[in-house]
Amino acid sequence: MSHSLPFNSTPVHGLFTPLPPEQKTDDTPGFWAILQGFSLVVAAGSELTRLPEGPLPTGIVPETEPLKIGIWQGKPLRAVRIAPDAVLPEGVEALPFQGADTRLDAAGATIAGRAAQILHWERRSRFCSCCGAELRRITGSWGKCCTACGDEHFPHIHPCIIVLVRRGKELLLIRNAAWNPGRFSLVAGFLDFGESLEECVQREVREEAGIEITSIRYVGSQCWPFPSQQMIGFLADYAGGEVKPDGVEVVEAEWFGDDALPLSPGSKRSISRWIINTFGAR
Ligand SMILES: [Zn+2]
Repeated sequence: MSHSLPFNSTPVHGLFTPLPPEQKTDDTPGFWAILQGFSLVVAAGSELTRLPEGPLPTGIVPETEPLKIGIWQGKPLRAVRIAPDAVLPEGVEALPFQGADTRLDAAGATIAGRAAQILHWERRSRFCSCCGAELRRITGSWGKCCTACGDEHFPHIHPCIIVLVRRGKELLLIRNAAWNPGRFSLVAGFLDFGESLEECVQREVREEAGIEITSIRYVGSQCWPFPSQQMIGFLADYAGGEVKPDGVEVVEAEWFGDDALPLSPGSKRSISRWIINTFGAR
């Protein structure tokens, strides 16, 4: 099931309990989710993710105030961000939770993603987008309220569709202009104004690959904290037209036999890989 994918809640079930931000400072020692770019700082050399515990490791200089985001293995978990070029002290290492490197286990990647998504929202919600005044926290929520005009702001989570289109034993894969040659994945895109999810799927396939589809059905979803998307996965069947990439966003669009897929379509932790593995072959 898609809910066991990294970055959803299932991989940290029993390990992590989310909490709304606290109103008062809590000094109880606990664990740290220390982020450096899209990497998580963990005890060096451990097979399963071991988050630093107790005082912040000597030599770690946070750029953000420690923010309690929940309870990890029975103790408070605080998230901080450090500079991308900060040199790490001995005993810890930074492991990527985005990309092809999968040394970090699913629980570690998931908690890093949660911390990253929250810290991103905190950084982007300091001032009111209506009037520019400072925002304050709404008690018991990640939402904010404007101190001047009273406008309320809640975390921005952007819905994106991702779709596997099949034609018999063939799958439609595309290459985005920003990707290296040889890297392919599924058609995907952001929901637009005035669209149902199915209409969005239809439009994205038409725009990126130039074809028409039918039998659009939902298969699963994934939180994608880069920085804050919700990926909503679909299957669809080919209905007509010649495949033609738009040449701008998408530079290649092709049918691949399910036994002749290009190397590693989609990132290992992503719903795109999961959809291809689960629904790719007939
Ligand atoms: Zn305002």
